[in-house]
Amino acid sequence: MLTSGAAHLIESFGTKEQIDHYIPKMFAGLWQGTMALTEPQAGSSLADISTIAVPAGDGYYNIRGQKLFISAGDHDGVENVVHLALARIKDAPAGVKGISLFIVPKYRAGENGKLVFNDVNCAGIYHKLGYRGAPITQLSFGENDDCRGYLIAQPGKGLFAMFQMMNAARIEVGLGAAAIASAAYYAALEYTRERPQGRPITAKDPTTPQIPIIEHADIKRMLLFQRAVVEGSLSLLMQWQPLFRYGTGNRRRGKRTLQFIAGNPHPGGQELSLRDGILAVSQGLQCLGGYGYCDEFPLEQFYRDVRIHPFTKEPPAYREWICWAAR
Ligand SMILES: Cc1cc2nc3c(=O)[nH]c(=O)nc-3n(C[C@H](O)[C@H](O)[C@H](O)COP(=O)(O)OP(=O)(O)OC[C@H]3O[C@@H](n4cnc5c(N)ncnc54)[C@H](O)[C@@H]3O)c2cc1C
Repeated sequence: MLTSGAAHLIESFGTKEQIDHYIPKMFAGLWQGTMALTEPQAGSSLADISTIAVPAGDGYYNIRGQKLFISAGDHDGVENVVHLALARIKDAPAGVKGISLFIVPKYRAGENGKLVFNDVNCAGIYHKLGYRGAPITQLSFGENDDCRGYLIAQPGKGLFAMFQMMNAARIEVGLGAAAIASAAYYAALEYTRERPQGRPITAKDPTTPQIPIIEHADIKRMLLFQRAVVEGSLSLLMQWQPLFRYGTGNRRRGKRTLQFIAGNPHPGGQELSLRDGILAVSQGLQCLGGYGYCDEFPLEQFYRDVRIHPFTKEPPAYREWICWAAR
């Protein structure tokens, strides 16, 4: 998701040289893409980004700063990591209007096209409640004053460009939540068909065999709730996904949909998946009784994994930017 999102961003805003250099390797899966926005003092409040970009006069900028929580920010599964990083060009105005977007690769092209280390350092990996398969990293750019960034899009338009990737990511994060809720539903369905416990409410004879718990009304209620969440959110997301592809399509409709998804006035597909996804997985876990809580069954992991998704629920300032980006 991150690699294709970053590659499409380069495709939309990059120069021909940048496209030729990065895109084939990224689409081949050899180079990872990331979105590097968050900083220690700039999480929800991206206007406070302070990573600095100093023009070096040779088509690149010297980058220096810290980035936190960068998903897939460094790992051994790829040859190179291409960060799409927000930074402030030296003497740029404060606030959102001073933010620009840079390609900051872990390895940059040196002489004769040979890759050389670009002073992008992994300062740490976070140990998380869920999503333990994904390395979420703290990055330090330019510890040795040798980190080069390549401007993409116009200076001061960094956040605008970044929203192409972020809007697609919102939908895909929603799909991720719907996928986890879906896996939880099918696991709960299988268990409740096999687990005998109790008897029909009308059966008075304790010597009659127990029935599978799926036959109890409250188990049915929990399963149906999960199914409604899974199918409802998937339908919404699949319908809307094309609108977010690479900023193309019907812009007016796209803008309206963005406002809708941003939670105004009704929550959209992503938020439905996020918020109700947690409730759905929780009910799936409940269907397994005590075993739902134990790691012999996958529900406890699904419950931990789905919890991260509402982290992308943005405060009001984000919503304004989303609408601004759509204009
Ligand atoms: C697993 C994971 C992966 C991530 N991946 C990436 C990534 O790939 N790239 C990246 O750049 N970042 C990434 N992040 C960082 C994520 O975007 C930030 O955690 C998020 O923006 C919130 O910033 P913060 O953690 O500093 O929280 P804070 O900004 O300190 O917010 C703390 C709480 O206050 C609330 N809050 C803050 N401001 C307001 C306000 N104005 N009104 C109402 N409530 C408010 C927030 O909603 C939150 O609940 C990731 C985070 C996690 C946990």
